[in-house]
Amino acid sequence: MIDFHSHLDLYPNALSLLPRVARENVFTLVVSTSPKAWLATSKVFSGYANIKIALGLHPEIAVAKAAEKDLFISLVAQAEYVGEVGLDGSPRFKASLPVQRAILDAVLAECERVGGRVMSLHSRGAADQVLDALAAHPKAGTPVLHWFSGTNKQLSRAVEQGAWFSVGPSMIASEKGRQLVAEMPRSRLLLETDGPFATKPNGTPWLPWETTDVMAVLCEAWEMQREQMRDQLLCNLKVITGEGT
Ligand code: MN
Repeated sequence: MIDFHSHLDLYPNALSLLPRVARENVFTLVVSTSPKAWLATSKVFSGYANIKIALGLHPEIAVAKAAEKDLFISLVAQAEYVGEVGLDGSPRFKASLPVQRAILDAVLAECERVGGRVMSLHSRGAADQVLDALAAHPKAGTPVLHWFSGTNKQLSRAVEQGAWFSVGPSMIASEKGRQLVAEMPRSRLLLETDGPFATKPNGTPWLPWETTDVMAVLCEAWEMQREQMRDQLLCNLKVITGEGT
């Protein structure tokens, strides 16, 4: 239906998946992991009005791709969406937090300068730092926190700062994830899969249209019928994409 955070370019059969993604989903945001990848994917994935490619630099590879920072900044003005960007403070990546933060600050400053962008943000183990960076750049645009895994307190702070959220099947697999989702404002929620990084229990990647499980959890959390919830999500999509406004 909606996949607001997909790494479609990283599926082995990406090109053959493309027409099906365009058909099954109302909208798909393909986030990129580096500016060079964005340039390449934008060319290859063109021609589908409901598939957009976001300009990104994944925080997990911030050190390896730090040299692409200037390229990133030079491309923000022509990118409709930004992502995946953000910070990762988990044990494996926290050593590179200063490099990650320098990149994120530069990206947010440029987003501000060009009038704001919708941004898909990674915040694992670094929710407060991401929110600090956003607070320092209040006109950077609309942040969509993908696969949010912070505390309830950090969630409240994110909501206060105007953040949106994209929720996927791997997130709602845990009790903590489901509990966070129930606290998210329903007018600021979107679906995602984060495939092929996020995988099913059997190890195969979620496909961009496989968000039925999330729909079921949302229906229960919000005590809404499926149709009603679908309308809510489509309405949210219109607001964030600026269509029908
Ligand atoms: Mn991702």
